[in-house]
Amino acid sequence: MKYNCEVVQDLLPLYVDNICSMQSREIVDAHIEECPRCKEQLTALGDRSVTQELSQERDGVLKTHMKKEKKRSTMIAMITSACLTVPIIVCLICNLAVGHALDWFFIVLTSLLVFASVTIVPLVTCDNKLLWTLGSFTVSVLALLGTICIYTNGNWFYIAAVPVTAGLLICFMPYIIRHLPLPAFLRNHKALLVMLVDTAAVYSIIAAAGLYTRYPGYWDIAVPIASFCMILPWAIVLTARYIPISKMYRGAVISLICGVFCAFINDVAELTLGEFDKLNLLKADFSNWNYYTNNGNVAWLFIISGTVIALILAVAGRILSKTKRN
Ligand SMILES: [Zn+2]
Repeated sequence: MKYNCEVVQDLLPLYVDNICSMQSREIVDAHIEECPRCKEQLTALGDRSVTQELSQERDGVLKTHMKKEKKRSTMIAMITSACLTVPIIVCLICNLAVGHALDWFFIVLTSLLVFASVTIVPLVTCDNKLLWTLGSFTVSVLALLGTICIYTNGNWFYIAAVPVTAGLLICFMPYIIRHLPLPAFLRNHKALLVMLVDTAAVYSIIAAAGLYTRYPGYWDIAVPIASFCMILPWAIVLTARYIPISKMYRGAVISLICGVFCAFINDVAELTLGEFDKLNLLKADFSNWNYYTNNGNVAWLFIISGTVIALILAVAGRILSKTKRN
């Protein structure tokens, strides 16, 4: 061999990329005829450059596709916006001509903003589409409620706005939380955060309703019943997320909790309404269904069905864990 392996191996990358001189090429060709080690390295380098080229090509195709998609979305967004300006201008002229001032025009304008928030916003945003769409939808719905409230001389804005905002938060919090930049210690407790926000949302609806209706004794009834009702979702979330047992056993615990919770809900309602005399469970009589025994009978049915489902899940969990071990 005229040249040693080190010299040839230095030349290999240039050889693969086809940027070495003719003379170097001949040296490499002659060397790999006789040296299986360098030949192997050349093959490996060739494979790697093919993979690299393929991935570069894929990136390029993706980029072009994304550019095309973006162009198309912007085009559709522009056409939709142009279509929306027609009713806006027509309503502006009509409102000015008929009323000599702008009033109901703002209701049309904010209604179209609601429409735009779910059609144009997702088309023109690149990152966090869902957050932008949800945010603009919420703001435009609140603006619509506000303008209608002003137009009708109402004082009901907050009683409409609070449940709408709270309802949207409850529905979309699980999606929103995934896109929020959370500090490290909170990242593993997303379920807990969602529950906290949902609980705050529920109490804000209760507070808004109480402030609006000013019904005497409202707080003494609404707060205890709502608080008792919140126990169930909290118990389910905490069990499902934090109790370190298998899924089947968790299901069993949740089934038991649901059974017991539903069995006592009537007692809590009667207690808060001042109509409680005796636990419903103690009034039960399965041979005699009437106004007095119905609640107790149903309460026992809740406990029995909750326990039966829990037992089935526990047995299934036991069998599953045994077969897994075997
Ligand atoms: Zn060699």
